[in-house]
Amino acid sequence: MEFSFTPLGISAAQPAYGRHLAGHVLAAGNELFLLDCGEGTQFQLHRYGVRRSRFRYIFISHLHGDHFFGLIGLLTSFGMNDRRDPLTVFAPPGLEEIIHLQMKLTGTILPFELTFQVLSADKKYRILETPSLEVFAFPLDHRTPTTGFLFQEKTIPLNIIPEIIDRYGLSFEQIRAVKTGADLTLPDGRQIPNHDLTLSPYRTRSFAYCSDTAYLETMAPLIRGVDILYHESTFREEDAALAKETFHSTAKQAAQLARLAEAEKLVLGHYSARYLDLSGLLEEAKAIFPNAVLGEEGIPVQVQAERMSGQIGQIPD
Ligand SMILES: [Zn+2]
Ligand SMILES: [Zn+2]
Repeated sequence: MEFSFTPLGISAAQPAYGRHLAGHVLAAGNELFLLDCGEGTQFQLHRYGVRRSRFRYIFISHLHGDHFFGLIGLLTSFGMNDRRDPLTVFAPPGLEEIIHLQMKLTGTILPFELTFQVLSADKKYRILETPSLEVFAFPLDHRTPTTGFLFQEKTIPLNIIPEIIDRYGLSFEQIRAVKTGADLTLPDGRQIPNHDLTLSPYRTRSFAYCSDTAYLETMAPLIRGVDILYHESTFREEDAALAKETFHSTAKQAAQLARLAEAEKLVLGHYSARYLDLSGLLEEAKAIFPNAVLGEEGIPVQVQAERMSGQIGQIPD
């Protein structure tokens, strides 16, 4: 099963040098999640062939325009395409009011159920559970209430070694029990331990999304050991004073956070329009945290499915 993060917009505050505003896609198994929806996000979804009809949940980190001004356009397009599936938007207080006012004054009626879940930006808590994932919100440090999001795969059921089923003539109930970790008791009373019945389990994967924020050390324990950390890196170190003043981070600070959180990989993004060349941001990050990459529009960052034994495998859908 796929687990990948794709930036669609990497520019901060305004478009610059062909770079677009915040919009990101997480693909996890059969689910697609949209993280922020700046102006132009629906064009980027189209450009990179993302099947937007598959979004059931949209996550808006905060109410700065570069993170949500594209939402009304996307919702309206969903309506014109006669979407019927319900859609839930997780957002700070106020977005529902904004969207409803836009719909009211433009006479927009959506043919699907649109629900807003208001986020609290003062603690880490679980906001969503799907069959394969849990999603948590946690506070960031910005000029307006802002939340980060942590996506954590649930434990994946064990795969039974195929010939075991025939060898012991397992019933449906026994197969189900073995997949959840149970040992097997044979009719003669012998016990077969679970590890002799199943392939090495898959490691669960995780992704943290930290949009606009000042450097915030208290975030590290909340996302400890995350596979992919997306962390804004609006500024270079020479503009650290500006980062502090505007509650943003430098690339170096993003790297410090990644190191502190013991992340596997750091993806940078939300680059200031003052930089044409982004290589300096990457250099500053890599000096602290070597496994850092520049987030690029339309380029997915993947985490492979890996068994605990270290063997790369393919999780069946
Ligand atoms: Zn922003
Ligand atoms: Zn902001």
